[in-house]
Amino acid sequence: METKHWVVDKSVITHQHYPHIKEAADLIRNGDVVAFPTETVYGLGGQAKLDSAVEKIFQAKGRPSDNPLIVHIADQADVDKLAHSIPTYAYLLMNAFWPGPLTVVVPKKEGVLSERVTAGLHTVAIRMPDHPAALALIKESGVPVAAPSANRSGKPSPTAAKHVLDDLNGRIAGVLDAGETGVGLESTVVDCTGDYPVVLRPGGITQADIEAIAGKTDTDTTLKQKEETPKAPGMKYAHYAPEAPLYIMEGLPAVIQEKVDEWRAEGKKVGVLAAAESAAMYKAEAVITCGCRSDLASVAKELYGALRSFNEQPVDVIVAEAFPTEGVGAAIMNRLEKAAGDKWIKTK
Ligand code: AMP
Ligand code: MG
Repeated sequence: METKHWVVDKSVITHQHYPHIKEAADLIRNGDVVAFPTETVYGLGGQAKLDSAVEKIFQAKGRPSDNPLIVHIADQADVDKLAHSIPTYAYLLMNAFWPGPLTVVVPKKEGVLSERVTAGLHTVAIRMPDHPAALALIKESGVPVAAPSANRSGKPSPTAAKHVLDDLNGRIAGVLDAGETGVGLESTVVDCTGDYPVVLRPGGITQADIEAIAGKTDTDTTLKQKEETPKAPGMKYAHYAPEAPLYIMEGLPAVIQEKVDEWRAEGKKVGVLAAAESAAMYKAEAVITCGCRSDLASVAKELYGALRSFNEQPVDVIVAEAFPTEGVGAAIMNRLEKAAGDKWIKTK
């Protein structure tokens, strides 16, 4: 299949680029799948009501079928068409953060969406993305759009159309390219089926942000106690990994450099993932910078691109600096730990 590549300019999306949006929306209406930018990462969208379209998403990604998809909408009123028994605090969260990087998990109305979207669960995950191309595409399609990240399963999520094409060229109908995404990590997923919100996947909207709107909020305990099955099925899978094995290490650059030297003495080519403040202090085969420690949002934005770029470097092993877990740091470390398959190097 030839994958179309439509370059669009975020700031003039509804005028000049309407033909591209329309072409992409027509493909979605026809049951095909297309990738599109959101404020978090690029998504791979297909009609959420159509089994065959949802099947194409899973096929293109190679995603395990027990991992449900997020349904994207462009109008908050559509939530009530897809879900029922939505608690008041969930509406407060939608009013506060939509459009934006917050996904609510709510009881689904039976028989509305393809069963494959929800992987047999009685709940559905819904979000309204904050990107003009995404909103225009969903509106023009006129259907709820199921969309996971537009990467091959297990790889880092795409924060640029190039990443989408690296993974999915020839496997999807097209990609709307509006340059780099903003937040850089996937949305915060919040379970809204109980008395208070529970964070199932940390993201750009932090637990403190949610508490400020909804009061008492918890984080899924299985995210901390890793031996249990997490409530967001996708959280149990390895994800975001570069090709070389990745380890995380705490400590000052001099301490991490000792480990790098040890590996190099064994003849290994070593990659280091470091914040801008410390990158120049390492001596290794590849040192890749990923944002500033003093501005964790910049680390979130650059993390996946940095992880991907190690695949273009001749490295046998990678060590990543650990980041603090406050604010968006919780999401950064959640993704980094997944990318590393939880491999930490203990500081001596
Ligand atoms: P992705 O589509 O790759 O951004 O991943 C979506 C995340 O949301 C995965 O971790 C899913 O397991 C999770 N998710 C989707 N639907 C539900 C649901 N109904 N209940 C709990 N988690 C969900
Ligand atoms: Mg994903």
